[in-house]
Amino acid sequence: MAHKHPGINTVCTHTGELKDEQFKGAVSPLYMSTSYAFEDVEVKRYPRYFNTPNQVALAQKMAALEHGEAALIFGSGMAAVSTSFIAFLHKGDHVVLQNTLYGGTSNLVVEEFEKFGIEYSFTKDFHPESFKEQIKKNTKVIYIETPSNPLLTITDIKAVAEIAKEHGLVSMIDNTFASPVNQNPIDFGIDIVIHSATKYMGGHSDILAGTVISSEEHINTIFQLAKNFGGSLSDYTVWLLERSIKTMGLRVKAQNKNAKKLAKFLEKHSDIAKVYYPGLKSHPDHEIAKSQMKGFGGMLSFELKEGMDVSLFQKKLKLIKSSMSLAGVESTILSPALTSHALLSEENRKKQGIKDGLMRFSVGIEEKEDLIADIEQALFEVKKIVVEL
Ligand SMILES: *Cc1c(COP(=O)(O)O)cnc(C)c1O
Repeated sequence: MAHKHPGINTVCTHTGELKDEQFKGAVSPLYMSTSYAFEDVEVKRYPRYFNTPNQVALAQKMAALEHGEAALIFGSGMAAVSTSFIAFLHKGDHVVLQNTLYGGTSNLVVEEFEKFGIEYSFTKDFHPESFKEQIKKNTKVIYIETPSNPLLTITDIKAVAEIAKEHGLVSMIDNTFASPVNQNPIDFGIDIVIHSATKYMGGHSDILAGTVISSEEHINTIFQLAKNFGGSLSDYTVWLLERSIKTMGLRVKAQNKNAKKLAKFLEKHSDIAKVYYPGLKSHPDHEIAKSQMKGFGGMLSFELKEGMDVSLFQKKLKLIKSSMSLAGVESTILSPALTSHALLSEENRKKQGIKDGLMRFSVGIEEKEDLIADIEQALFEVKKIVVEL
C-alpha cells in the first residue's frame, strides 16, 4: 500500500490477514490448535494467552481500525469492559463513570466493585464539567460512552480526555454504538477504546465478542490480568469475526444513511412526539457530534405520541423485529420502558428521560422505503384500534 493510512474499507478487508503459504488461499487460514511446540520462554503459544495466530492477526486489524498500537480480543464485550476496569483499578481506587451507561456495565459496577474495594461515582449528566466535579484524590479512571443508550446523548470526547490528562487519569470509552467506522476516540486523546464486537463488528447477530484497543503499554497491563481472568475468544469465532469485519465499513455506512433518512422521516411524522438522533440538527449536541463523528451511526430513538400503544406498535411491525440486541444487518426495535429499563422505578425512568412511548431503533441495511412502509402501516394499525375503541 502506497500511503500511510489505508482507508477504512481497505483496513476492514486486509489489515492483519494471515497468508496461506501452504495452498495460497485467498483468506486467512484458521488455526484451531490449543497446543503448540515450545518456542522460547517469552513466546508460549496458548489461546488463553491471547497469542494464537488468528488472535494476533485480528488484534492487528482492531488496532488499525481504532488508530491504536495494540489490541486484545475477548470472549464478550463485558469481558473486555471488566478486565480493563480491574487492570487499572486497585483496592481503594476511585473511578468516575458517565451517568448513563450500557446496562451490563452499570450492573458490573454496582454489583461487583464493592467486593474489590473499588469506589465509584456517576456523573450528574454527560457534560465535561460534571466529570471534573466527581474527581477525587484517589480517582484513577474516567469512563464514558458516546453516543449513549437509549437517548443517544453525546459526550465531548476531547474535553473529557483533556480533563483526564490534566489529572493524570486513564480515560476509557465504550465506542460500541459508533463503531470504528464513525468514531476513533484515540484521535481525540482517549487512552483506551472498548467495543462489544457482538454489535457492529460482528454485524450479523451471531457472534459474541469484545475488544480493547490502546497503546502497547496499556494493552500489556490489561493482558497481565486477562491471561489470569481467562476471557479470551475461541479461534473459530476469532476467524468468523475477521470475516464479518471485512464488510463492516460497507454495512455501517449503509446503516448511517438509512438511520439519517428514517430519523428525518420520523421527525416529520405527526404520530411521533420526538426523535433522538445525533445526525439531526434538532439534536442538542449535533455540533459536538459533527466534530467527533464521521457518520452518525445506525442507532436512533423516538417517542410515539401519548396514548399510542407501544406494545401494539411493535406487534404490528412486519419487517422490523423486536430484539434486545442491536447493530445487526436486520432492523430491530425495543421499548426500553418494557424491557431494558423495566426494572427501574417509574420515577427513576422519568429522571433518566425514558418515557413509556420511547422506542430504541437499530436501523439495518434493508431498503429505506421498505422500513418506512413498515412503520407507516404499523402506526396506521395502532390508530385504527384507538378509533375503534
Ligand atoms: C452489548 C454492549 C456491551 C456488552 O457487550 P457483550 O458483547 O454483550 O458482552 C457493552 N457496551 C455496549 C454499548 C453494548 O451495546
